[in-house]
Amino acid sequence: MTNEDAMRWLGCIADVMRENRAYLTQLDAAIGDADHGINMDRGFSAVRVKFPTMATTDIAAQLKTVGSTLVSTVGGAAGPLYGTAFLRAGGVVAGKQELTSADVVAMLEAFLGGVVARGKAHAGEKTMVDALTPALAAAKEALNEGASLAELTHRARMAAEEGMKATIPMLATKGRASYLGERSIGHQDPGATSSWLILKCLEEVSRD
Ligand code: ADP
Ligand code: MG
Repeated sequence: MTNEDAMRWLGCIADVMRENRAYLTQLDAAIGDADHGINMDRGFSAVRVKFPTMATTDIAAQLKTVGSTLVSTVGGAAGPLYGTAFLRAGGVVAGKQELTSADVVAMLEAFLGGVVARGKAHAGEKTMVDALTPALAAAKEALNEGASLAELTHRARMAAEEGMKATIPMLATKGRASYLGERSIGHQDPGATSSWLILKCLEEVSRD
């Protein structure tokens, strides 16, 4: 994965957050405050403005720019959570001009680690962690089996999709949705859905 691929990944994320702005907001309307799509689109629109200056920097700098931009432009839980995720992801690929499959797995591990460090959620609490945790496990398994980057990111996306759907019957115990208690059951988590979109874009730019 080159820095051009990383830019294509970020461009895809900015596009899908715009396209899914209403959908993510609608999911958040059911169990939150109806702003997740607005938050994600605002954050990645601010990132998009920086694309021209990011194009020539290395992947670590690109990811750190995304992280700091999300932290500073997104109000709400998702800004600091994804912001920390991208900052940490940038931290583990420092100095690399190109990422191997192992580097991509390390990046995903740091990404999830950032969300967990910031939000203190465990798997099963109906958050983005429920999409990212199985995605990382699937990516690690694929890496151990010597899968290509295309195959690895495909399996990570599939696992994230399953994890996202598995949030529907869950009871939310973290974030705004936890205020609803039992009424949070029966709705798909918006953050798990945006995490799946981020992995879908990674799969898209990793196709051989
Ligand atoms: P807010 O809840 O402040 O309105 P958003 O609507 O942008 O922020 O984001 C909501 C999403 O954030 C949730 O769907 C959930 O996935 C995620 N989230 C909330 N709290 C946590 C947490 N402590 N750890 C991980 N993810 C969380
Ligand atoms: Mg919200």
